[in-house]
Amino acid sequence: MASIPSTMKGVIIEKTGGTEVLQYKTDLPVPQPKEGEVLVKNEFLGINYIDTYFRSGLYPAPGFPYTLGREASGTIASLGSGSNFHGLKEGDHVVWMAEGGYAEYTVAPAEKTYKIPSGLSGKIAVAAFLQGLTALTLIRESHHVQKGDWVLVHAAAGGTGLWLVQLLKAVGAKAIGTASTEEKVEAAQKAGAEYVINYSREDVKSKVTELTGGKGCIAVFDGVGKTTFDLSLDCLARKGSLVSFGNASGAVPPVTIARLSPKNARLLRPTLFGYIATREEFEKYTGELFDYILKDGLDVKIHEVYPLSQVAKAHDDLEGRKTSGKLLLDPSR
Ligand code: NDP
Repeated sequence: MASIPSTMKGVIIEKTGGTEVLQYKTDLPVPQPKEGEVLVKNEFLGINYIDTYFRSGLYPAPGFPYTLGREASGTIASLGSGSNFHGLKEGDHVVWMAEGGYAEYTVAPAEKTYKIPSGLSGKIAVAAFLQGLTALTLIRESHHVQKGDWVLVHAAAGGTGLWLVQLLKAVGAKAIGTASTEEKVEAAQKAGAEYVINYSREDVKSKVTELTGGKGCIAVFDGVGKTTFDLSLDCLARKGSLVSFGNASGAVPPVTIARLSPKNARLLRPTLFGYIATREEFEKYTGELFDYILKDGLDVKIHEVYPLSQVAKAHDDLEGRKTSGKLLLDPSR
């Protein structure tokens, strides 16, 4: 293992705001791992919508300066103190999920670090990781989707959306996707959606009603939030689950609980972190996700790999709805 430098490239924010608050630095201190932590030399960094929430202030950062980024692939450069590293050792090729991702090196808890199986590249592993796990836990835990179920997926050509569509197909469910452009419609169709509604020119509610024979969808996975909440409730079948799991268009305003009565509907607002809280859950779902790629041939669509120094462009593209699939950062550039 090459020696560990004292400084590194990284991106910090010192206040919340637009993409102008993202500061690219070349002299940040390399962090030191503490008990049960590993220091990882990052190879590819994953961008997630949640990064934009911390940047904008929708979600409060724990303090400043703050380093965005929740996942990366890389190589373990050193271990902290203690003995419980779940079998991980220096030199292992891993993916991790924690904080402080937009940097050349990150300290992550061993508890949330996973050795990448042979046959899978670090690029594909991290491109699949957080968004794939989100989709997998949503269809298992938020609403356990069954074969033959009609399910509505908003932003079906997005990073998480493409995973939802592929996994729904894999379990024999019928996904109806929504997307804003023809290019995105095609991407979601290729991923296995039964039908994809281009909501820029087609009415979502009418099409869902037609496709489901008037019944609606037994589950709606809605990561768009504010602008789609009412529509999602409208598209739900009796006894269905509205799984509101994100705020790409803004946070959903407070909801009157009585609105669930007409359909005996369930309403959930889950986070991935709540489904992979224990090592056992984390290992089980990550192993299963990687098997879907290695054994079942599920696709991992990468929109673009941006140099870390161009992180502002990556955020602009994601928030500007210009992307389909996963956005990665290369920490060496
Ligand atoms: P996406 O790749 O899905 O990008 C967001 C997409 O949302 C856009 O491409 C766009 O698709 C659609 N969209 C609709 N309205 C807007 C709007 N006003 N502004 C921006 N985008 C809009 O992102 P991710 O896969 O990273 O995340 C999707 C959602 O999942 C986010 O809300 C995120 O927070 C959530 N999430 C939640 C997790 C959890 O644990 N709860 C974990 C991971 C993700 P189109 O143009 O087709 O409408």
